[in-house]
Amino acid sequence: MRVFIISDMEGVAGITKWEQVIGGNPHYAEGRKLYTQEMNAAARGAFDAGADEVVLMDCHGAGKGWTFNSLLHEELDPRVTYVVQNEWTEHTETLEEGCDAALFVGMHAMAGSGDGVLSHTVSGTEWHYLKFNGVEVGETGINAALCGTWDTPVLMVTGDEAVCGEAKVLLGEGLTTVAVKKGYGRYSAKHVPPVRAREMIYDGARQALRNLDAVTPYVPRPAEIEVRLHTTAEAEPYRNRDGVELVDGRTVVSKADDWWTAWKRLYL
Ligand SMILES: [Zn+2]
Repeated sequence: MRVFIISDMEGVAGITKWEQVIGGNPHYAEGRKLYTQEMNAAARGAFDAGADEVVLMDCHGAGKGWTFNSLLHEELDPRVTYVVQNEWTEHTETLEEGCDAALFVGMHAMAGSGDGVLSHTVSGTEWHYLKFNGVEVGETGINAALCGTWDTPVLMVTGDEAVCGEAKVLLGEGLTTVAVKKGYGRYSAKHVPPVRAREMIYDGARQALRNLDAVTPYVPRPAEIEVRLHTTAEAEPYRNRDGVELVDGRTVVSKADDWWTAWKRLYL
C-alpha cells in the first residue's frame, strides 16, 4: 500500500496565530516542531496500517526558503520520503505513479469560516472565495481534486472542527476526521495538547486505511472553477490569460472537461 500525506500547518494542534506559521518569526520554530510531529504520527499510523511506502508533502507557504519546506528534516520518521515543491500543486508525479490513499494533515477551513482557525483560501488577502461547479470549497477541496485527478481517495482530514466539518460535507461520511482544536474565531481556539493530538492522528490514520473504498475520489467533471478576488487589482493578472474569463471586475472563471486542466489554466 502506497500512502500520500499532504499537509498544511494552520490546522496543527497548538497553532493559533500567523506568527507560528510564518518563516523566520520567533514563534515559527515551535510551529514547525508541532507540525513535523503530527506528520510523523500520521505516517506511523499509515505504516502500522500496512503501508509499505509513505510520501509526505508539505503544502504550507511559510515564506522565503521555508515555503513548502517547513518540516524539520532531522526529526522526520526515517521510513518516509518527502517532496519539497516550488509551486503549490506543481508536484503530481507521486499521484501519477499511483497511490492507494491520501491523508490530509493540519488543514485549515476555507475563507469566510467564522470559527475556522487561520481560515483562508489560497491567499488570505487576495481570494474572497473559490467555487468548484458552484460549490464553495477551500484548500481541502483543491488538494482532494488534485488527488481525484489521479484516482486517489482522501481518507482522512485533520485540523480544527471547522475544516473537519467542511471536509465531510465535500467528501462524504466515509471520511475519517480528526479535530485537534475548536476555533472560536480566526485567532483563538481550544486545543487538544499536541501529545494527545498525535495519538488521535495516529489512530485516525490507522483506522482510515482499513477501508480504501470508504471515500470515492473527488472528481469535479466537467469542471468550472470560479474565484472571487477581493479587489479588481487582484483580478488584473488574469485579464489576458488563455482559457480564463474575467466575468466581472473581480471574478474569474476557468472551465474545462476536467478539473486539472481548468486549474492549471487558472493557477499554474
Ligand atoms: Zn498554510
